[in-house]
Amino acid sequence: MQAEIYPFVVRPLPYEYGALAPVLDGETLTFHHDRHYKTYVDNLNDALADYPQLQKMSLKELLTKMDSLPAAVRTSVRNNGGGAFNHELYFDGMKSPMGQLPSGELAEALNRDFGSFLQWKAQMKQAAISQFGSGWAVLVSDHQGKLSILKTANQDVPDLETYTPLFLVDVWEHAYYLQYRNRRADYVEGWFDLINWKKAGRRYEEVLRNKG
Ligand code: MN
Repeated sequence: MQAEIYPFVVRPLPYEYGALAPVLDGETLTFHHDRHYKTYVDNLNDALADYPQLQKMSLKELLTKMDSLPAAVRTSVRNNGGGAFNHELYFDGMKSPMGQLPSGELAEALNRDFGSFLQWKAQMKQAAISQFGSGWAVLVSDHQGKLSILKTANQDVPDLETYTPLFLVDVWEHAYYLQYRNRRADYVEGWFDLINWKKAGRRYEEVLRNKG
């Protein structure tokens, strides 16, 4: 997905800042995108500034080869590279609140792997609410198209050699505190209405096309 290399650029939101209201108001989204996400991108570029060999690697490559990176940049790539990756998928995974539902192969796979859409939603919500402190709840597919829900702490990403993240929900307080204060569950419940199922479905179909 991330074919670009250093210097990484801040991707504009694929909708207006106010487009996700009332679930996410314009102020929340502006701070989240223009300050928090941008800072991860800026710090990642700063960390790579002195490493010409790393400047040829895509973000996904940097994140999958983290253990072989020079120790001095490893933590920064983990936190800031992960932050860039997670936020790009988060913002891209939402759309105006239309209350879309999944369709096609992704809808079938949710039923197969979780029992029903509602059971999937309950598990996803539980994962998001129960993540202690800052982190993410992520819907992923493995290479065979099997879906699962993962939780990651801080800005960690799932193992990208094993899993393709389809979308994720940010449960850092910075994602919701301006608007929801401490009511994480209300934010997560609203977020379900923002999921861009069409894009998630396309990501999933690509996994199925590439399967052995
Ligand atoms: Mn965030």
